[in-house]
Amino acid sequence: MSVKITRVTTILTAPVGINLVVVRIDTNQPGLYGLGCATFAYRALTVKSLIDDYIGPLLIGRDAQAIEEIWQLLHQNAYWRNGPIENNAISGVDMALWDIKGKLANLPLYQLFGGKVREAVPVYRHADGSSFEALCDKIEEFQAKGITHIRCQAGGYGGGGYGPAPSDSPEGAPDGIYLDPRGYMRATISMFEKIRDRFGFDVELIHDVHERLHPVDAIKLAKALEPFDLFFLEDAIPLEQGEWLRELRAKTTIPLAQGELFNHPLEWRQLIAERLIDFIRVHVSQIGGLTPARKLQIFAEQYGVRTAWHGPGDMSPLAHAANIHLDLSARNFGVQEWSGTEPPNVVIQDIKGPHNALLDVFPGLPELRKGFVYPNDRPGLGVDLDEKLAAKFPCEHGITTWTQTRLRDGSLHTP
Ligand code: MG
Repeated sequence: MSVKITRVTTILTAPVGINLVVVRIDTNQPGLYGLGCATFAYRALTVKSLIDDYIGPLLIGRDAQAIEEIWQLLHQNAYWRNGPIENNAISGVDMALWDIKGKLANLPLYQLFGGKVREAVPVYRHADGSSFEALCDKIEEFQAKGITHIRCQAGGYGGGGYGPAPSDSPEGAPDGIYLDPRGYMRATISMFEKIRDRFGFDVELIHDVHERLHPVDAIKLAKALEPFDLFFLEDAIPLEQGEWLRELRAKTTIPLAQGELFNHPLEWRQLIAERLIDFIRVHVSQIGGLTPARKLQIFAEQYGVRTAWHGPGDMSPLAHAANIHLDLSARNFGVQEWSGTEPPNVVIQDIKGPHNALLDVFPGLPELRKGFVYPNDRPGLGVDLDEKLAAKFPCEHGITTWTQTRLRDGSLHTP
């Protein structure tokens, strides 16, 4: 059967106030279409323009079943490769083509990836709070829901909210999210001490450094956290300082997860081949979708490195489902980040009673039950899009502030 691409559409929607970018690919087969996630929340209009103005025209009339050929075509077409805008746009197309292939086969995607090696996917949830008591409440709330892996942070990622510089900053220091890296480091060590005192060792704990320390302080933190037996320490070393992972590895046995900012295979190849990390944590749309993620997962398996795909709120349910299909079929799966999309999360109260805006716009999101996410068995990704409803939640394109992290002297620090 010849399945040709007849239309490529980009849909922007923000059912929970976060900009989501979706690609829909229609074909010459009646009713056969695919959906994919191209979300780069903070550059959504740019990704849309790339898809509408350049990628769509390139794809019309091509074979929708030739996923690898189309991935390479898009990857190479602009000559320069692997930028985050381009990779997210390619991801939208790539996931949509896998969705179409699953629908053609009448199989959920995990079946096309080799079938299930586990019945459901264990996930970790993110807990923080303005005080230690607030953090404990959150941990207890998750434990009551059967969550076994919890990422604990002392007040966000160590900074406060966006606002004026603190009074001990120099005159004229601009607004930002002010961070005291060494204060954050000490608060984190004391937080884990108190968590283990209170909850014992029956809960798996994770912590995200979010690149907020100088590498030598990250090593100090990792060593200090060893007695608390973390499941992993996330992004302890900034992307640009990857060579420090050798040093960190040599000095601590704490399991290391790295890579939610990775764009390019050269950023992970050595880390995996030299076994400098334990978990690969890339954001699947950020590297170009399911096609490169499958290659990465299989590559990592050869070296005993497990997957912990990035699963934040700023990606669509299509991307969450893509993670779950990979997780179900991967022997080297570690854990999956799950960001609170179970109902009743964002509740709309109307004549139908309370319902969840995200799930209304994207019916079919895999379900979290007692610490595990279960796929649905619909063909393809298994997630649909209600375009009429999506249009009722328009995106906003204001200035991004959460990435404006600053040190006490007013200088910028990576978020
Ligand atoms: Mg992270």
